[in-house]
Amino acid sequence: MSAAALDPLADRLRRLLALTGLLAVLATGGLAWLAWDYVLDAYAERLAEQTRTHYRAKLAQQRLIWNKAGHRLRSEIEFLRFGEMPPAQRRARLLAFFTAQGEYREFEGLMLTDAGGMPFFTLGCQAMLQEGGDRLQSTGPDLPDVLVQGHCQDSQYVYYVFHTPLWLGPQGQGLGIYAAALDHGFLTRLARKMDHLYLYADGRIQATSEGAARMGNSVDAATMPLRRGGMLQAVVPLAPGGALDGPLLIVRRPLDPLLSTADLLMGIGVVSLVLLAILWWGLGRSLGRVVQRLNDMAHGARAFLVDFRRPDQWPEWLARATGQRDEISQLGKILDQLMNEAERRHQEQAAYQQTLEQMEEAVLELDTAGRVLRVSRAWNVLTGNGEGIVGQPLAAWLHPDDTAAFAELVAALAQHRKEQATARLRLHLDDAQARWLELRLARAPQGECLRGVIRDVTQHYKQEQRITHMALHDALTGLPNRVLLEDRLKVALRLGRRSEHKVALGFIDLDHFKNVNDSLGHKTGDALLVALAQRLRQHLRSGDTLARWGGDEFVVLLPEMHTLEAVREVAQKLHAATEAPIRVDDTEFNITFSAGFAVYPDDTDNEDMLLSHADRAMFYAKAQGRNTLQLFCDMAKKGLGKKDVYIQQRLATAIREKRIVNHYQPLVNAHTGQVRGVEALARWFEPELGWIPPATFIPMAENLGLIRELGEQVWHRALHDVRHWKARGFGLSVNLSKRQLFMPYFTDKLLEDVAAHGLEPERVTLEMTESVALLDVEYAAERLKELHAAGFLLSIDDFGTGYSSLSLLHEMPVHELKIDIAFVRRIHQPQGARLIQTIVGMAQSLGFKTVAEGVEDGQTASQLADMGVDLLQGWHFGRPMTAQEFDAWWLDRHDRAAPGDGEGVQGR
Ligand code: C2E
Ligand code: CA
Ligand code: CA
Repeated sequence: MSAAALDPLADRLRRLLALTGLLAVLATGGLAWLAWDYVLDAYAERLAEQTRTHYRAKLAQQRLIWNKAGHRLRSEIEFLRFGEMPPAQRRARLLAFFTAQGEYREFEGLMLTDAGGMPFFTLGCQAMLQEGGDRLQSTGPDLPDVLVQGHCQDSQYVYYVFHTPLWLGPQGQGLGIYAAALDHGFLTRLARKMDHLYLYADGRIQATSEGAARMGNSVDAATMPLRRGGMLQAVVPLAPGGALDGPLLIVRRPLDPLLSTADLLMGIGVVSLVLLAILWWGLGRSLGRVVQRLNDMAHGARAFLVDFRRPDQWPEWLARATGQRDEISQLGKILDQLMNEAERRHQEQAAYQQTLEQMEEAVLELDTAGRVLRVSRAWNVLTGNGEGIVGQPLAAWLHPDDTAAFAELVAALAQHRKEQATARLRLHLDDAQARWLELRLARAPQGECLRGVIRDVTQHYKQEQRITHMALHDALTGLPNRVLLEDRLKVALRLGRRSEHKVALGFIDLDHFKNVNDSLGHKTGDALLVALAQRLRQHLRSGDTLARWGGDEFVVLLPEMHTLEAVREVAQKLHAATEAPIRVDDTEFNITFSAGFAVYPDDTDNEDMLLSHADRAMFYAKAQGRNTLQLFCDMAKKGLGKKDVYIQQRLATAIREKRIVNHYQPLVNAHTGQVRGVEALARWFEPELGWIPPATFIPMAENLGLIRELGEQVWHRALHDVRHWKARGFGLSVNLSKRQLFMPYFTDKLLEDVAAHGLEPERVTLEMTESVALLDVEYAAERLKELHAAGFLLSIDDFGTGYSSLSLLHEMPVHELKIDIAFVRRIHQPQGARLIQTIVGMAQSLGFKTVAEGVEDGQTASQLADMGVDLLQGWHFGRPMTAQEFDAWWLDRHDRAAPGDGEGVQGR
């Protein structure tokens, strides 16, 4: 706000005041003028009335004088007996008499008539006297005079005519008629000092008094204004009756005004000016004060804006403006409150800012195009040198391979396709090491920008990578494991479908390998497996996969095969690979294997069946006597493989007849050795086949659609058995397979069952492999959340053999991780120990408990306990047992432990 642009309020108000003052003065002047005119009129009216009264009286008085003069003249004429004289003598005598007679001057003329009315003596204008005499005669003796006007000797006059009776002696009685002229002389005598008199008759001024100005001829007595040119004008009728159409006396006299108009205007002007000056001064002062206060307020506000950090300035300014109880003070107080509030928020924000700056995660704000609006200081720590990022696209700092993913993430948020999103991206730094970031972004409420945090997850990522690699590869041979194989199989089939290639899958099982293990020990067995894996690998194309299925079983996957013959060739080549002996530790071994192959699309079109067919072909090959090759299609021609078909048929019956039983294996606290619970494991005994391992019949039951029934049986039996152990505080762990999880009303049923056996869901742990927990993620997650909400504990079985990144598991309501038996086996190797340590560490950081299974000796147990594993399970503590066996085992252990004060891990 520059001073030049300011149009000060006080000046504006002053201008307004001046203008209104002027208008007010003009208006008052006008009004006063009108009022003054009215006053003058009234004054003139009164004066005119006085004047008329005066002249009426004066005229009457004059007529009386004339009348008297007429009577005196009659007396003298009668005394001198002019009537008795002979007419000739009489005339001469009369003439002499009147010539000598001073009285006669009163009149302009006279006429004497005899008894018959005939004039016998006339002086002056005869015609006029004649007329007056006639009119007096006709009006009778009551009227002493009449007003006559007419010509006489070429001049026009107005006369008063009087008459008296005249005794003429013996001749009887005649009349004396006298005329007095209303002329200049008369008017001069009549006029008062200052007055000017005009005689008006026959439409013009006939005579004036001494000094009277000419009046002009067009005078209309009826409409004559009362005042004219400072003169008063009054009209007096001359005829005794007073009619306005007869001769008139017009009186003009200077109107001696009380106050002149100029004086009046001057007075008004002066008074107004004085008033205006007072107003100007008074109002100006108070306005000045108002403006000063407003200025103070503006000063305060400016001080607040500019010197925000010095809150000692503005309150002082505001205090000056708010001293009174008016609107300005009110405004000032509100302003004060606003500033205080802004100040408070500023402090608050600064505090938040400080907190943010201390976080390891960088907090950032992006615009909807991905440009950085702000970022906290942690960014500099993350990148080593992140200066100058504000205003730049964040993508410029990312690895080129990740910018597209980042752009998509930002677009998804900006276009409201997502509310929030998370991504893992690499930083693009000069140093060769990849740095991984986790970026979590959410759209701001109004969608104007994106806010989020960014953190370094490189360590995390590397650990995961390591685990994932181990999870997908066999530790011993380095070959892909089952999980990776299944994935590659899926891919191969998908490609095969598209390109119409064949895909072959072969199961390889070493002949009599158990003997090697038993006689030469595991170590040699392991070395032999590694050597064999290398040998086989040499005979495969780079696109082929050789995987370790477990133990002495391998699987080979041959994608992009053109003919069945080609498959046969490769199979034979592999088989021939073992013809030469294998050397291990200076010993030569002659190893043979049996293999079964199945081919897509010839034998089946899905991966489960391909595995199953290849397995059956292998089984069949073994049954044919070892060291043989079998293709499923050949076998199918000859008739089906026997044993597993047999088992399959038996399985349905066994389940129906409830011949599959439960065994229970204890889980113990790694540190106290106390039994924490049991895991229920299914067992199947067939008189002809002996014990059939669950690893065989459980997948079969899944494939045959029997798992649901089998699972229910295991579950109900377990609840029934565990009921007796409730008092001992045991928990129950049961295994769930994929299909069970997706049964309708699964959670409700479990809850019902648990309640029916008087158990709390918190006592029950449901174990499932990570592939089950993460499969079909959306739906499984929903189910898991449901189970968790119902109170059940969830455990990830065989952890480490799946793909799962821990960050995914983190979002699941999981309670514990069961470290796979394969990891426990390798605890005595440094790498194996490190791996377990990593898993335990991460599980702890995510709040999961850990269980180790397959603990076969005391050393392993104590090592696992030292690493922080919570629960242990394995033959070292107890093999899977029937319920009765388990009872006995527990009582025995309990009795032995009772005298002491707790059981150690090596308690057995
Ligand atoms: P699992 O859930 O990982 O069970 C642990 C396996 O390790 C059991 O094999 C158990 O006998 C074995 N084991 C326990 N301690 C040791 C030890 O110290 N050393 C060795 N070498 N092995 C030990 P099992 O009973 O053969 O079960 C195999 C798999 O079959 C189970 O693996 C589980 O996935 C599945 N299974 C068993 N019972 C059921 C069931 O009722 N329902 C479902 N869905 N699956 C089941
Ligand atoms: Ca289990
Ligand atoms: Ca397991």
